Amino acid sequence: MEYNYDDQNIFAKILRGEIPNKTAFENDHALAFHDINPQAPVHVLVIPKGPYMSLDHFARDASADEQVGFFAAVAAVCEKFDLGQGFRGISNTRTHGVQEVPHYHMHILGGRPLGRMLDA
Ligand code: AMP
Repeated sequence: MEYNYDDQNIFAKILRGEIPNKTAFENDHALAFHDINPQAPVHVLVIPKGPYMSLDHFARDASADEQVGFFAAVAAVCEKFDLGQGFRGISNTRTHGVQEVPHYHMHILGGRPLGRMLDA
């Protein structure tokens, strides 16, 4: 699989500081910020700082440090927003996954019961 990262996507612009975000957590390898259109009381997006398009791209090509840093940010978000009762982590991917922004992100949704995983 060939991945052609487009550095004009909106999350790349957020990482460059060209458009604002509501930051929830940041470390050397990842940024977490509140989704602009929240679907739950907690709706945070965790993104790597590197140029990865999708979960599979990140899993294949990101360094060990980048992967550890990314999941450290996921853990920090879960801790910060008190998600001990549970949450859902979603990474929509490409066309069938209905991915709108082609920079890898994990949605962290929580703060209420979320229902079943998929609508038919
Ligand atoms: P996806 O369909 O998984 O690519 O979801 C992209 C998400 O990015 C959506 O939930 C949008 O509401 C969110 N989003 C788009 N632009 C921004 C932005 N400028 N700041 C925060 N979230 C955004």
